[in-house]
Amino acid sequence: FFFANMAEPVAVELQKEKKEKKSKKSKDDVGDDGDLPADMRVRVAVRIRPFNKADHNDTSICLTVDDNKITADNGQKNASFSYDHVFFESQQADVYKAVGETMLHDAFSGFNSTIFAYGQTGSGKTYSMVGVENDPVHEGLLPRICKDLFALGEELMAEDRTLNIKIQVSFVEVYNEKIHDLLQFEVPGVVRGTEEDMKELKLKENKKTKCFDVEGLSLHTVTNYPRVKNLIEIGTEYRTKAATGMNELSSRSHSVFTIFMNQTHQPPSPTQRDMCSKIVIVDLAGSER
Ligand code: ADP
Ligand code: MG
Repeated sequence: FFFANMAEPVAVELQKEKKEKKSKKSKDDVGDDGDLPADMRVRVAVRIRPFNKADHNDTSICLTVDDNKITADNGQKNASFSYDHVFFESQQADVYKAVGETMLHDAFSGFNSTIFAYGQTGSGKTYSMVGVENDPVHEGLLPRICKDLFALGEELMAEDRTLNIKIQVSFVEVYNEKIHDLLQFEVPGVVRGTEEDMKELKLKENKKTKCFDVEGLSLHTVTNYPRVKNLIEIGTEYRTKAATGMNELSSRSHSVFTIFMNQTHQPPSPTQRDMCSKIVIVDLAGSER
């Protein structure tokens, strides 16, 4: 998923890991990403934010949008690019409808999905991923996904009394190759500290899954939206507090919010599978570096 501001195209990536379907293909079948059906490949969307003060009145328009195609024109040359989505003059709700809802429904079907917000500092990555707290118009993808997650989960559990849905979240920051757990002080029994007290965590390869796990990362079981919102606020505060002290650290750090979903049946269902899946929301450091 790609983001753009008016001056320079920037990006966000939506990656879908349809593992089950992929594993059915033989090695020879795996070609260029473009060969895969739209719902299985990495999808790219561009969001163009409105002009603001940061643009210093440099409001000459060099991009035109036609459906999912953007044409950049500098007066001498022009070039067109097509994407899976182009969000232009779009509201947060439009972005959620096109991107967030798909990720949420995939999670309920047992698939993992990851979204990367990529772009220059000030291009609207954090606005798109998190947005403005407690503001129904300006809140971003993450709060919208979490709200619907519990609403939909409760609906499903009311329909099927054997179904239990467990949600856990984690929130980390990567700065200068160092990983910090933004929720490490939220573990029961742990004394609250300042951002200076945050421990550096290491990546460790999980031999079984061949994936890299963050060793010692705290996982938080959440049963309602207000608690997730609270955790997002706490994590974001640690990220921004450090930012003011350290020369805009937040624009030079990546943040990764993960929602783990575990669906089980008790008693075990003969027809319905137990599933675990995750949604990963990555707010990357400014691309200007
Ligand atoms: P980044 O995280 O990429 O550095 P921000 O998300 O902080 O950028 O956005 C920079 C500023 O622009 C913020 O004040 C934000 O509220 C505003 N902004 C970004 N995108 C939009 C948008 N689509 N509509 C309105 N305001 C936006
Ligand atoms: Mg940001």
